[in-house]
Order: sequence, then structure tokens, then C-alpha cells
Amino acid sequence: MTIEKTIYLDNAATTPVRGEVMARMLPFFGADFANPAAKYRFATNPWNAIEDSRMKIAALIGATDPTEIYFTSSGTEADNWAIRGVCNANPDKKHIVTTAFEHHAIMETCADMERNGYEVTYVLPNREGRINPDDVKAALRPDTAVVSVMYANNEIGSIQPIAEIGRVCRAAAVPFHTDAVQAVGHIHVDVISDYVDLLSLSAHKFYGPKGVGALYVRKGVKIAPIIFGGMQEGNKRAGTHNVPGIAAIGVAAECAALEIRDEIPCLTKLRDKLQAGILDKIPYTSVNGGNNRLPGNLNVSFRFVESEAILNLLDFKGVYASSGSACNADDLEASHVILALGLTHEEANGTVRFSLGKYTKESDIDFVLDVLPPIIEKLRNMSPLYEDFVGGGSK
Ligand code: PLP
Repeated sequence: MTIEKTIYLDNAATTPVRGEVMARMLPFFGADFANPAAKYRFATNPWNAIEDSRMKIAALIGATDPTEIYFTSSGTEADNWAIRGVCNANPDKKHIVTTAFEHHAIMETCADMERNGYEVTYVLPNREGRINPDDVKAALRPDTAVVSVMYANNEIGSIQPIAEIGRVCRAAAVPFHTDAVQAVGHIHVDVISDYVDLLSLSAHKFYGPKGVGALYVRKGVKIAPIIFGGMQEGNKRAGTHNVPGIAAIGVAAECAALEIRDEIPCLTKLRDKLQAGILDKIPYTSVNGGNNRLPGNLNVSFRFVESEAILNLLDFKGVYASSGSACNADDLEASHVILALGLTHEEANGTVRFSLGKYTKESDIDFVLDVLPPIIEKLRNMSPLYEDFVGGGSK
């Protein structure tokens, strides 16, 4: 089989490593291989690379003090650490507030906390995928240890009222964590004006490598380590530093900070073209996530068809998209995100996420708009659900 095209529309799953970032990593696999924890001069370059990246990450998210940035192995680790670390530091408080449509890194951590005696309140989003800050406020209890609300949803891209939620938590003196893995590098994030106490991010979502992330912890917020061993990261997160990865995330952050302003309108324009074209050409189709979404996100429910079938036929055309979060691509259960919006299982099963990135071209969008309508038509013509619908005279 020859695939003539590669149209990558799964940038929410991961992004390619940009050239500048790759170049920055290479010396640390070669001449500058020393362990940054060593005290000799030979370890100066790796050490400086880490501290330089800490400053660049801090600058990207508006943190005033780089020592508030702790490097981790991933966004998943940062999420686990935020929840477990804050709870462990406050052992008398046994209640957590989060939402029903978080990434599995938060959902599964909370499920584990429940197995260990915690109570978790899952705030529901509205139909547009937005969390109401009043609902977060109503969920708070005197024994709430932490609130965790994602900055932007990974499947539907909806951006949350983080500053308002942050203000509610700050007023109640409850630590507020946000999983900003999908947001950082793509929209403006500012931990100070958003009243954020802890924030997770991940390099591979903004053109850095996989396997490196960070947790921002505001000065004064109590957090216990969850990984024990050496004294790295201020004695809070043990483990020899991933120097190439950490050097890389700094460059990725620096590039994002420089480019974000121009990139938002470009991506939004392309995404809106894809959205308008799909809605225009394909009936019985709806867009999830409301209007305030990540610039590159388009999540569409195609009625009467299965997303897996759509994705397979797109794959044959060289178009790569997904049915939800990449971590769950093997899980054929309907997405908990789409169900949390109140959509039916049938609507959830026909949902496809297109996520555009900085390398998406207008010709890619044109190509998708050419190949997608016949794919949906073909699948609907084989669909008993569609036959019933049409046969019932509802068309
Ligand atoms: N949180 C969100 C919102 C994500 O989208 C992802 C990855 O898809 C993660 C956390 C996990 O990040 P990582 O892949 O770095 O473990």
C-alpha cells in the first residue's frame, strides 16, 4: 500500500519535534553527557541547560520565580504529583474537587484516591464543555484538600474560566491545580492572573520531545514528594535529570512564547475553514466544545456512523485524526468527555477529533474537505441506524 499523502491532524495527541529543539538536545547525548548533579566543572553545561529551561518555562506561564518550576517525566506525572502531593501534605483533608471530563491522568489518580479513602466530587461541564465556577464553589467543603480543573479539554478543546475558578479557590484557601497540558504553548496562560497554585504541562504537546513535563508549584503551597531517591529538583522530585529533554522543553517554550500571538489567528482561520466546510457539506453533523476552544481543535459528531470506521477510511487517504485522547485510542468505549456533555452514546460513537498544528497547510484542509464527505456518505449508506432514520421519513 502506498500512502501518497501525510496529513497529520492529531496534534493534540502529540506534535513533531521542531528543528531548533532537536538541535538543542544533541550535545547532551554527546560531549555534554555529564550528570548535572555532579560538582565538577564538566557538569556546568548540563546544569546551566536545566536552569535556563526553568527560566523559559516560568516566562511562558507567567511565573515570577523559576524555582517554582519542577521538571517531571511527563504531564501524567505532573498531574499525579499535584493531586497526591498536595493531599499527602494535608493528611487531615480527605476531599477532592475535579471535573467529570478531565484527562485520564487526573481521572485515574482521583479514582485511586477514592480507593484510598478520599471522596471526590466530579463537577459536570455544560453542553458546550464549560465548567461553571459557581459549581466549583458549591462543591468546596471544609475538608477539601485540592481542586483540579483542566485549562482546556484535550478532546473538545473547550477553554475553562480558569481565572474565575482560581479566584474562588484562593478565596477559600484551597490549593488550585490546573492540567494545562493542552493549553500551554497554544494560548496565553498566566499563573498569576489566573490564581493558579499548581499547573501541569508537557513538552510533546508544543513541539518538544515526549517524556518531559513540568509542574509549577506556587511558592508557599505545600506539596509532598511522590518519587523518592536523590535530592534533585529541590529535594522534591528524585531522579537523574533528563537533560536532553529538559534542555529541549526550554527551547520549545521560548519558541512558543515568541510565536503564540501570530499562531492563534492562523490556526483559528484554518480550523474554522475545516469546521465550516464539514458543516456545509455533511448533514447530521455537530461540533462539540462551544465557541471558546483551543485554536487548533475541531471535534465533530457525525450521526449514524462509527468514528473508528471514519478514521480507518481517512487513514487510507493519508489523513491522521483520532476519536478522542490518544491514550485511549484502543478503548472502543464511548468517550467520557463526550458523554459528560450529555450527548448520547450514538453521538459519542461517531465523534472525530481533528487537531491542527503549526505545520498544517490550507491544502491539507482542502484535501480533507474533498475526501471526508464521500467517506461519511459511504458509511451512512451501510448504516442500519441511518437506514432506519431515512426509512422513518425523518430525513
Ligand atoms: N493531560 C492532558 C490534558 C493531556 O492531553 C495529556 C496528554 O494527552 C496528558 C495530561 C498527559 O501528558 P503526557 O502525555 O505528557 O503524559
